[in-house]
Amino acid sequence: ALYGSDRRNSKGLDLSIESHRDRIARAVRALDDGPVLSAGPIISGKSNTGGKNKVLCPHDHSHVVGTVKWADEKDVDKAFAAAKKAQPGWDEMGAVKRADILRAMGQALEDNTERLMAIMAREAGKNLVDGIAEVREAVDFCRYYAHEAETHFNAPQKLPGPAGETNHLSLHGRGVFACISPWNFPLAIFTGQLTAALAAGNTVVAKPAEQTSLTAFEAVRLFQKAGLPKDVLHLLPGDGETIGAPLTQHPDLAGVCFTGSTDVARLIHQTLAKREGAILPLIAETGGLNAMFVDTTALREQAIDDIIVSAFGSAGQRCSALRVAFLPDDTADMLIEGLSGAIDELAFGDPSLPSTDIGPVIDADAKKLLDEHLANLPKGAKILKRAKMEGLPESQTFFAPTIIELKNLDQLERETFGPILHIVRYDPDKLDKLAPALNAKGYGLTLGVHSRLESFAKEVIEHVKVGNTYVNRSMTGAVVGVQPFGGEGLSGTGPKAGGPHYLLRFAAERTVTVNI
Ligand code: GLU
Repeated sequence: ALYGSDRRNSKGLDLSIESHRDRIARAVRALDDGPVLSAGPIISGKSNTGGKNKVLCPHDHSHVVGTVKWADEKDVDKAFAAAKKAQPGWDEMGAVKRADILRAMGQALEDNTERLMAIMAREAGKNLVDGIAEVREAVDFCRYYAHEAETHFNAPQKLPGPAGETNHLSLHGRGVFACISPWNFPLAIFTGQLTAALAAGNTVVAKPAEQTSLTAFEAVRLFQKAGLPKDVLHLLPGDGETIGAPLTQHPDLAGVCFTGSTDVARLIHQTLAKREGAILPLIAETGGLNAMFVDTTALREQAIDDIIVSAFGSAGQRCSALRVAFLPDDTADMLIEGLSGAIDELAFGDPSLPSTDIGPVIDADAKKLLDEHLANLPKGAKILKRAKMEGLPESQTFFAPTIIELKNLDQLERETFGPILHIVRYDPDKLDKLAPALNAKGYGLTLGVHSRLESFAKEVIEHVKVGNTYVNRSMTGAVVGVQPFGGEGLSGTGPKAGGPHYLLRFAAERTVTVNI
């Protein structure tokens, strides 16, 4: 069962409870008042810190959160050598014991929720609502994959055969997996990738995004304290240009799990294809050009709320985020007016404060890409609304949530990874033209529908090909084991994270046929 009685998703903290808010505030203060953090490679449990790369707080660049020593090529070799040696023992240990360790890892994260939230607020600009959800998701991944491994990897499955013959199918780890994770979910996706690989019997070399090494470092320390053997997981913080190639070209590599841009996924795919030796699996979760279809029957307030959350929540830095809303000619003006009003209500600022709705974007490069998008709008496109963000410090990377109206969908080619919502008006009589135009973009990640007509929702769902569809709610925040997450086409290879087929792609399947 997906949601077996022995597995419950984590409850997390509740910002409406004063004592929970106090606990978070204390953790943030302790971090701010404490020594600057330091991180670096962790190979066989030994960490190598004391590097020169400074981590600046995205909402206040004068605040140095930590320093990171980046891994080099030699570290890659060392990590692979240890991971390769440890893999057979880890696989043979069996799924039940591995699952126990994974659960202990999840517990360690849960027990340290406030500190992890504080680090993510300072390193990644995560606000508290997102921080709570992020820790919960990471804990859920540990428990879900533990449960999945026990269910499918523990004992060989008996298959039918003729009299006198027995047939068994069993699942095993493949070897050493490289897990390459993004900064937008520095704990949840980082943990999800590596726990899936570990649950299936692989050992792991993990490379977190350059921007979020501190969070990854903290998590690995917690995992090892919780009982994860030191040789089965190695952490290599660093810059993709230096260690990306040695990682994906390493002769001892058995597979790659990657979340990030479509372009980098392609690059990894090419690298793997050109290697000598075994043909390796790539599990990639990439971008989206995600749309919401609203019709004239949609409940106005609910649609507006859900559009705001989907487009601007997490400062739009989710691959699931809403990028283009299709609004019907008849009600578009009314909806736009409501959206503009809602934008005026959003609060920006220090992400560690409970009052902050929208934090900064991750860094100056990210902000520059968004600025360029606004500066190069296609002809006829216009900015309908920009949030006012007065009173914020100069040295920061806030980007004002923006609504842009496009003449048609042709004017939108690429994902813009931030708080920018595009609007395209449509004539309900020509609804059937929209889905093919959207599919033709090649992405297929998330889809939203707002309508009180079942027939409208059905028609959209039938024609738009995506991995995750949400009707009459926001379209971000997939829950482990409830909305397995991932798309198709330019959005990724599948299988879906937090779903019942995920672990299989990390496994070698073997059948044994015996005649007596
Ligand atoms: N799973 C996240 C969600 O449902 C998005 C993950 C991502 O941005 O990579 O919002």
